[in-house]
Amino acid sequence: MYAIGDQKMIDAINANTEGLAEKLMERGIAWKANSVEEAAQAAGLDAAVLAETVKTFNGYVDAGVDADFGRTAFNGKVEDGTVYVVKLQSAYHLTFGGLTIDAQTRVLNTEGNVIPGLYAAGDAVGNFEGDIHQSGFCITQVLWMGRTAGQVAAK
Ligand SMILES: Cc1cc2nc3c(=O)[nH]c(=O)nc-3n(C[C@H](O)[C@H](O)[C@H](O)COP(=O)(O)OP(=O)(O)OC[C@H]3O[C@@H](n4cnc5c(N)ncnc54)[C@H](O)[C@@H]3O)c2cc1C
Repeated sequence: MYAIGDQKMIDAINANTEGLAEKLMERGIAWKANSVEEAAQAAGLDAAVLAETVKTFNGYVDAGVDADFGRTAFNGKVEDGTVYVVKLQSAYHLTFGGLTIDAQTRVLNTEGNVIPGLYAAGDAVGNFEGDIHQSGFCITQVLWMGRTAGQVAAK
């Protein structure tokens, strides 16, 4: 997919990570141009389709709602002037799921009973992360689970 925007989008990207937009351009996955049509050409997209898409999007900004997807929060229209196209690709960062353990890292069966002699730690475990990923949480889990599993198993 492609993100299309003007200077506002680039400022927002750079506000999070200084110089990121320029790095993306250096890597050839973002393009800067003077109009939507030129931006489409630089990115290898159909200029007429992109111009129509931008026009439709700007209409949604005016209306305060995106009739296609129900979006209501916007960072303004894609204005004439400097236009950017950024190529995006979705990726799975992590998956969560796996064995269920207790606080001593002993693996539990489907009835919630300890399976003797079986311990698990780190990403093999599915029941400690909860529904929301917290950055940094995994490494701390890995450390205490590995240490705990070793200690409990040694006993
Ligand atoms: C892109 C990315 C960014 C992340 N950023 C963060 C972060 O900022 N903070 C944070 O807390 N967590 C982060 N994580 C999550 C964190 O890295 C993992 O939760 C953690 O590394 C899991 O550790 P682990 O020891 O359970 O598994 P792993 O680190 O996956 O270790 C498993 C090891 O077992 C080896 N192995 C597999 N099969 C075999 C086999 N049959 N025989 C022998 N060896 C085998 C593998 O080669 C690997 O070295 C990130 C993960 C990713 C992918």
